Amino acid sequence: MEIKVNTGILSANEQKAVENRKLFKENGVFAINLMGSPGAGKTTVLEKTIDYLSGKVRLAVIEGDIYTSKDARRIEKYGVPVEQINTGGACHLDAKMVSGALSKFDLTGLDLMVIENVGNLVCPVEFDLGEDQKIAVLSITEGDDKPMKYPLLFRESGAVILNKMDILDFTDVDLEGLRKDIHIINPDIKIFEVSARTGQGIDQWAEWLTDRVKDTVK
Ligand code: MG
Ligand code: ZN
Repeated sequence: MEIKVNTGILSANEQKAVENRKLFKENGVFAINLMGSPGAGKTTVLEKTIDYLSGKVRLAVIEGDIYTSKDARRIEKYGVPVEQINTGGACHLDAKMVSGALSKFDLTGLDLMVIENVGNLVCPVEFDLGEDQKIAVLSITEGDDKPMKYPLLFRESGAVILNKMDILDFTDVDLEGLRKDIHIINPDIKIFEVSARTGQGIDQWAEWLTDRVKDTVK
């Protein structure tokens, strides 16, 4: 007996994601999908990460945004190849959009592709882009209840960057409780306590990322 499963939008997306993943693999590129709320600090974390990896890891960036190219312009200043995707209203990237952006890069000269998704805690995680690793960025100012309220992102991510740690003392966040909740959802996830503003903890996150990149055979 044949059982038909999900021939809807996700399967079309899955197909494209498989192609993207193959393209990354063939070119020895490690790809991450950076996700989190608007204002969590995804772009600022990325800027500090680029700084740290400069001269060590050859990277490029795909910036997802609904309408603007503000983030892409910020990344451009760091001298790394960057492509902007404007979703024109859609609140997430899909594999087809990423595929279009990938055709603009010379992947043979790259070690790492960072895809910054549209700021949104909910649906971006439901769309496989062909990345090797999903990464969550959560700023502590968003509140310690967010992992339990939006568990899928934390379940699917290999690491979570807890950003804005420099202002922890000005919040009521229960950091131990937050860490515990994240590990209940995903016992294997790595948690990095970071302040992209001050640079605190960026080294640990960037070293972990570098190790993942090195594991990708060229
Ligand atoms: Mg951004
Ligand atoms: Zn969406």
